Amino acid sequence: MRNTTQRKEILEFLRSKRHHCSAVQVYDAVRERIPNISLGTVYRNLGQLLESGEIISVEAVDKCIYYDGFIENHAHFVCKECKEIFDFPIEPEKRKAINDAGFCVDTERVVYYGTCKACQKN
Ligand SMILES: [Zn+2]
Ligand SMILES: [Zn+2]
Repeated sequence: MRNTTQRKEILEFLRSKRHHCSAVQVYDAVRERIPNISLGTVYRNLGQLLESGEIISVEAVDKCIYYDGFIENHAHFVCKECKEIFDFPIEPEKRKAINDAGFCVDTERVVYYGTCKACQKN
């Protein structure tokens, strides 16, 4: 099935990259393998992968959505200068207050916005 192949290619690309990619970046990369794929198809597949929890997304400073194939719980730091997205581990203590209140967390999305180390030097 063609649709499955496209989805697999997109997922494999995002998993192979320890980088956060925009839909256009995914499109450019996958097009090398599937030349007739459209940007709309890429968007549709990304939506399906997000829904199934196989990838996650991060909203960058420019409101652009970046996709991440690394789905282990982690925090993101988005640099407002260079727009780079960095991964950081999440400390479980952060959830303690919520758990103590008797709430059950199943999805955690932590995004910090600021200036990265390299950009602070400039
Ligand atoms: Zn930066
Ligand atoms: Zn990430």
